[in-house]
Amino acid sequence: MTTKAYGAHAADQPLQAMDIERRAPGPRDVQIDIAYCGVCHSDLHTVRSEWGGTRYPCVPGHEIVGRVSALGGEVTRFAIGDVVGVGCLVGSCQRCASCADNLEQYCENGFIGTYNGRTDDAPGHTLGGYSQRIVVDDKFVLQIRHPEAQLAAVAPLLCAGITTYSPLRHWNVGPGKKVGIVGIGGLGHMGIKIAHAMGAEVVAFTTSEGKRQDALDLGAGAVVVSRNKDEMRAHAGSFDVILDTVAASHSLDAFTALLKRDGTLVLVGVPEHPHPTPNIANLIFARRTIAGSLIGGLAETQEMLDFCADKGIVAEIEMISAQQIDEAYERMLKSDVKYRFVIDSASMAGG
Ligand code: NAP
Ligand code: ZN
Repeated sequence: MTTKAYGAHAADQPLQAMDIERRAPGPRDVQIDIAYCGVCHSDLHTVRSEWGGTRYPCVPGHEIVGRVSALGGEVTRFAIGDVVGVGCLVGSCQRCASCADNLEQYCENGFIGTYNGRTDDAPGHTLGGYSQRIVVDDKFVLQIRHPEAQLAAVAPLLCAGITTYSPLRHWNVGPGKKVGIVGIGGLGHMGIKIAHAMGAEVVAFTTSEGKRQDALDLGAGAVVVSRNKDEMRAHAGSFDVILDTVAASHSLDAFTALLKRDGTLVLVGVPEHPHPTPNIANLIFARRTIAGSLIGGLAETQEMLDFCADKGIVAEIEMISAQQIDEAYERMLKSDVKYRFVIDSASMAGG
C-alpha cells in the first residue's frame, strides 16, 4: 500500500515528501495510522549518515503513536481503533539469551530498527515514522494508556522516555539516590521528569543558561551550568548516577569527578565524533564506572509507558508540520528545542 512519507535520498539532501510502500498486514501484523511522530537526535545522526551505514532513501522516526487500522488474523492483543505506540525496535531474533531476557535491544543476532534496519520489505531496509502509516509485528507494538488528548506528547516516551527510564531503573535510582542528568534536550528533559518521579534527588547539568528555570520546573532540585567550574565543584564526589545524554563529543572528566565512590556515569548520547579518552585516575581512585545503555526492551517500554501514565508524565513538545523538519533539525543542533519536536502526521496529507 502506498503511504506518504518524509525522507532523504542522500546524506547531503534535505528531507522531502515521498511515496513509500507498506506491506499488507500478515497474520501477526498490526497496521497503524500514525497520528504523531517525535523527532529524535538519532534521526538527524542517521539521515545525515553521521554514524555511517545509512541506507537511502532514509525515512526516520521511532517515536510513533497512532491508531490500529487493520490487523492480522492471529493478533489478539489489539483491536481496530486502539491507540498504540511503536518505538525504536520492530524486530529481533527472539531466540537468543537477550531476547529471552526481554532485552530485545541487545539481541545477539541484531535487532531490527524501526528505520535503517534490514527487512525483506521494499526497499530492503525499514522506513520509520515520518510517514502516515506503518505495519509492525504485534510483539513490537505498545499499549498507550494516557488520555487521548495527550497523545502527541506521549510520542517522545517511545525513545526519549525509555532510553532514560531503562538506565535509571538498571542503576537502581530511587529515594535516597542523587542523580545527575547531563544535557537538557529531548532525552535529558525526560530523564529529569522520570528520575524525579522515581523519588531521587535530581541535579540537571546544562550548557544553556536559559534552561535553568525550566530544569527546576521539570523536577530538578538544582541546576548546574556545566561551563561554570565553581558550580561543578560544589557537587564533587556526591552522585550515585550521572546520565549523560549529550549529542556532541565532550570531556567526561568533569562528570566522573562528581561521582561518589562506586558511582556510575551512564552514557546514552551517541555523538558523531568520540569523546576524548577519559582520565583513568578519576575511575581507579574511587572505583567509579563509565557505562552505556541502549533504549529498552518491549516489556520495559510498556512498564515505562504505564509508569508515565500513572504519574501523569508526558514530554514537553513543540508541534511541527513535516515540511518544517529540516528547520527543526537546525534548531536541534543549536540546542534550541523545548524539549522535543513532534510531527503532526496530518501535515503530510498534502504531499
Ligand atoms: P537533543 O534533543 O539534541 O539534546 C541533546 C542536548 O545535549 C542538548 O539539548 C544540549 O543540552 C546538550 N548539548 C548539545 N550539544 C552540546 C555540546 N556541544 N556540549 C555540551 N552539551 C551539548 O538530543 P536527544 O534527542 O536528546 O539525543 C541525545 C543523544 O542521545 C543523541 O546523540 C542521540 O543519538 C542519542 N540517543 C541514544 C539513545 C540510546 O539508546 N543510547 C537513544 C536515543 C538517542 P543543554 O542545552 O542542556 O546543554
Ligand atoms: Zn531516538
